[in-house]
Amino acid sequence: MSTHEPAVVKTEKEWREALTPEQYEVLRRAGTEAPFTGEYVYNKDSGDYRCAACSAVLFSADAKFDSGTGWPSFTEPAVAEAVELRPDNGLFMRRTEVLCRRCGGHLGHVFDDGPGPDGQRYCINSAALDFTPQDPSSS
Ligand code: FE
Repeated sequence: MSTHEPAVVKTEKEWREALTPEQYEVLRRAGTEAPFTGEYVYNKDSGDYRCAACSAVLFSADAKFDSGTGWPSFTEPAVAEAVELRPDNGLFMRRTEVLCRRCGGHLGHVFDDGPGPDGQRYCINSAALDFTPQDPSSS
């Protein structure tokens, strides 16, 4: 874990103007959307999940699995460098926060009870993501 200066920097006013209220609450205020309410909870289509704030590719649909938690869940990021991990000891819980490395936006948390070989479960808010379906002609 390391601190890292985001490549995309905006003022809070600029973020408010660029994002929907739901996106702003999650990405800039580390909010959590209510479970089973997000746009991508049940999405099983092939494609890429990009940061809703800066469009960086964060997760591939190939790594998405049904965790039953009510939030989009992934076994790993698209590339390790896409995300930043940071200790989060708020709410009387020791958790690891997941942020977009490019813009510093809050995405969700990562837990160690995932189904893959690394045992990781990236629990990510739909509001922080923007899904790009795979181009059918490219497969
Ligand atoms: Fe971002």
